[in-house]
Amino acid sequence: MANLAALLETTTENHGDRTAIVFGDTRISYAQLNGAANQVANLLVSRGIQPGDKVALSCPNVPYFTIVYYGILKAGATVVPLNVLLKAREVAYHLDDSDAKAYFAFEGTPDLPIGEEAWEGFQATESCTDFFLIKLDSSAPEPMEPPEFYGPLVAQQPPTFETVQTDDDDTAVILYTSGTTGQPKGAELRHRNMRDNALAGEALFGADVDNPDTYLCVLPLFHSFGQTCIQNGGIAYGGTVVMLPRFEAQAALGLMLKEKVTYFAGVPTMYWGLLGALADGDVDVSSIAETLRVAAAGGAALPAEVHRNFQEKFGVTILEGYGLSETSPVASFSPWGQEVRVGSIGTPIPGVEMKLIDPEWNDVPGDIQDDGKSAVGEIAIKGHNVMKGYYGRPEATAEAIRDGWFRSGDLARKDADGFYYIVDRSKDMIIRGGYNVYPRELEEVLMTHPAVSLVAVIGVEHESHGEEIKAVVVKEKDHDDLTEADLVAWGKEQFAAYKYPRIVEFRDELPMTATGKILKREI
Ligand code: AMP
Repeated sequence: MANLAALLETTTENHGDRTAIVFGDTRISYAQLNGAANQVANLLVSRGIQPGDKVALSCPNVPYFTIVYYGILKAGATVVPLNVLLKAREVAYHLDDSDAKAYFAFEGTPDLPIGEEAWEGFQATESCTDFFLIKLDSSAPEPMEPPEFYGPLVAQQPPTFETVQTDDDDTAVILYTSGTTGQPKGAELRHRNMRDNALAGEALFGADVDNPDTYLCVLPLFHSFGQTCIQNGGIAYGGTVVMLPRFEAQAALGLMLKEKVTYFAGVPTMYWGLLGALADGDVDVSSIAETLRVAAAGGAALPAEVHRNFQEKFGVTILEGYGLSETSPVASFSPWGQEVRVGSIGTPIPGVEMKLIDPEWNDVPGDIQDDGKSAVGEIAIKGHNVMKGYYGRPEATAEAIRDGWFRSGDLARKDADGFYYIVDRSKDMIIRGGYNVYPRELEEVLMTHPAVSLVAVIGVEHESHGEEIKAVVVKEKDHDDLTEADLVAWGKEQFAAYKYPRIVEFRDELPMTATGKILKREI
């Protein structure tokens, strides 16, 4: 089964009547999902898309995401999922950088007002020539059957398609991430990278196709965590994926109850939100706890307090995992069936090795110190999950991967039993509410503001987001009238909502090294 789409096809063959996706009142069976994905594949082929072409997709967590994703794969093309919050300028950058030939974008609804920027971004590029608008008629009173569900263009296509057989090493998905440096880069993930990571569910949390889970899908599907751990994993094990387009804690709890959710995965901010919502309302948490079987966290460090509170309220221990877009994403996980070590990211998953290295790629000695852990080193990862490289960037790839080992930029220690503990990030990155924000990308754009002479973007502690984004700015001469509100408003126009700086501090100068690098630590 070389094509990642075989995950869907196998489940359809064996369990075609099962519910694959729940979205509001709409329930889509595996047979329907597979047929709809075939229609998308037919549409793409009819428009001249060839195996290996890149097709971008900007869509929130609604069934179209999965339909189009699998349609692109079936056509033998590569999916390029884009963050739905990107601004037009950012969309154009991603389409150009990935050489996308076609672009599917969600047309916003009154409830989900996104989409305009997608169209403007498309107009601003040259490489991408086909634009498909994904329509969602949220005003329809009845649950919609798939043929009406995704617009006439697709509905005209036949529901059968002979999936293009790709090579295991062909690229299935290009996921944009900034890695260790500024500009977003496309991590090329092979069919086997994505498939093997999705199929880790049995070993990691006892996923069983004969006893399928119901997954709450609140993690954005454009990100690797949602894609592998919910969408592809859910489909691989014949589960039901319950979609919520935007994380809202009360709505999430309501769906957990209504759909008898057995599996929840989220970033720490979501756990924090769920616990907060429990405190506000009269949620029937004991009924949720009755069905909830697995809770998984990743993407950022999970505070021990959140871990404890969740276990107390929901009766389920959170399994913490660790990984990156470049590793499909899961590299380590709290071992299933063993007692969870709070604060640890667990051990490498089956088929994956991890070690600690120094900046010169040498192994850091594993001797255990008095406090029970090794010296600090940067996590390096090797195994079936490691990407092919960064699309079109051989130099960045060579810096990141050596002899099959991928260097993560995350600093960690290891205990005597091989459990890893993240201590810091060596790379320059802020994680705000689960979203990675790369200061250098913001700094480059902020520097283009006529009143900004010098800027350093840093993360500052924030109660619910974990970190908040702050710009420390030296003004250009004769621009004394620039205010914090001016710059925040300007940033809001330039960047996706999750990444513009909310706090601005003005200073006369910034601390610098001898080579002219801003000393962020001193700020
Ligand atoms: P992404 O490429 O968006 O998946 O982001 C990957 C980054 O998220 C990693 O390099 C880490 O810095 C961070 N991360 C992921 N999981 C964890 C975790 N369990 N604890 C701390 N940081 C994490």
